[in-house]
Order: sequence, then C-alpha cells, then structure tokens
Amino acid sequence: MSCQNPERCAHQAASWKAQQERYVEIGEKVLAELRESLERGESNLRISYHGDTRQTDRCISGATIRMLVCDEAWPFWYYKNSYGIEKLELVGHVKAGEKKYRPIHVILIKNPGSDLWKVTTVYDPRSKEYKWGNNYQERKCFCK
Ligand SMILES: [Zn+2]
Repeated sequence: MSCQNPERCAHQAASWKAQQERYVEIGEKVLAELRESLERGESNLRISYHGDTRQTDRCISGATIRMLVCDEAWPFWYYKNSYGIEKLELVGHVKAGEKKYRPIHVILIKNPGSDLWKVTTVYDPRSKEYKWGNNYQERKCFCK
C-alpha cells in the first residue's frame, strides 16, 4: 500500500503541520486534566469493546493502553469538531525486546457534556508506514 494521491496529501500535510503545534498544546492540557481525574480515582476512561477486539488482533493489551494513556504516551494531535466532539491522538513507544520499541497510536474521543474519554482505536502505525513522519508523530498521508 502507498499514498493514492501524493499531491493532495502533501497539500493537506502542510496545513496539518501548520496547525499541529497549537493543537498539541491544547491536547497536552486535555491529557493532563484526564490524568489528574484518573489519579483522583474518577473513572473517566473507557476502553470500548470495539477497541478490545482490535487490541486482540494487534497484540496490544488493555493494560498497555492504560499505561500509555495514564503515563507514557503524548499527544500529537487534538481536534474539536463543530458538534463539540473532541478527539485526542496519542503516540507512545512500548518495549518489545531489548533496545526494541514498538510505536503505538491511541485514539480517544469525548462527547460534548461528558467527562468520559473513550479509546476508539489502537494501532501500530508501522502497519501504514507511508502515512507517518517524524517518528510517527506527523501525518503525511490522508488517504483512507
Ligand atoms: Zn495519501
């Protein structure tokens, strides 16, 4: 697999990158608030059934996801759409052997008026290597 429309994706990637710094700044605040609420014992994190199925397929455990969200991952994108739905995209690296790390992306969504963040997707971005740059923190291809 590769990019189906390099010209369009290069254009989109440039505007994505131009906004990334601002959105990451918001994402960092949002993630810090989620982590603080989890430390207070509030259960504001759900790993959905759909998410669980995917994790099994991709050998990423619920415990690993929890560790990434609670501790080790950092945001590379944040977005709030016109309906108020927030989306937080995290990247982390999981030890996969001596001096070997596996990159993992964790995608979370929160509905307006709710405090609950739901993990909707978890994947190893190396499965579509061509879509990412800068150590899997920068989106280069927007093809489906
Ligand atoms: Zn593309």
